[in-house]
Amino acid sequence: MTFRDGFPMCPTCRSPLDARGRRFVCEPCTAVLVTSDELGELLRELRPNDTRALEQQLKPLGPGPRPCPRCPVVMESVKLGDVPLDRCAAHGIWFDHDELERVLGGGRAAVSAFEVEHQNRVDAADSFELGELGMLLKALWPWKKQRR
Ligand SMILES: [Zn+2]
Ligand SMILES: [Zn+2]
Repeated sequence: MTFRDGFPMCPTCRSPLDARGRRFVCEPCTAVLVTSDELGELLRELRPNDTRALEQQLKPLGPGPRPCPRCPVVMESVKLGDVPLDRCAAHGIWFDHDELERVLGGGRAAVSAFEVEHQNRVDAADSFELGELGMLLKALWPWKKQRR
């Protein structure tokens, strides 16, 4: 494999990164570079009630220790929730090993907790509205749910 200028390389282990869709992945580190656009979309999907732009969710902590995998710029240390990350303004956010999971996993857990609570409220309202027989019918005919 020939290395050319700007060939994406892992800032931790110097392995060449694999391009996967919009992402660049380091297999040995299980690290991944995600564009700001994609991260913004993921966060919106996971936390639809959080309307802040990605920029507002990232807390800048100053210059980080590593260069961007795709350019010579030193990445900025940022925090997303309680997960510390590195960011290149031009190329996106670098997630070490389980950091993407921590960011998305936390989001997913929060979202499912919200969904469970929402569903409980819907069921409670239905049992009041429909009574026990109605609830049984609702369970038997899932299409009824879709009409809500
Ligand atoms: Zn690596
Ligand atoms: Zn960069």
